[in-house]
Amino acid sequence: MSNSIMQTDKKCLICGTNYNLHLHHIFAGHANRKISDKYGFTVWLCGYHHNLSKEGVHYNHSLDFAIKRSCQAKFELNHTRKEFMDLIGKNYLEFEE
Ligand SMILES: [Zn+2]
Ligand SMILES: [Zn+2]
Repeated sequence: MSNSIMQTDKKCLICGTNYNLHLHHIFAGHANRKISDKYGFTVWLCGYHHNLSKEGVHYNHSLDFAIKRSCQAKFELNHTRKEFMDLIGKNYLEFEE
């Protein structure tokens, strides 16, 4: 597993706590989960911001979308858009929610 491209510290991406952390795979689905592990498309989130509240990324669609966009943007700092599209099959930076 690669380290997250989103974070250097192991803490919740949203609130910064290091209590009760879950590793979230940014792009869901079986194939994407493997790709997320390989390329570091993962983030640490506390339970509240993961799946234990309606504010969590699994229920809060705009948070989910924001994290996906930010992950694609980070990846594209040193990869091409085509590389991202070949991996994930979707461009989160150019369509509206
Ligand atoms: Zn949090
Ligand atoms: Zn998750």
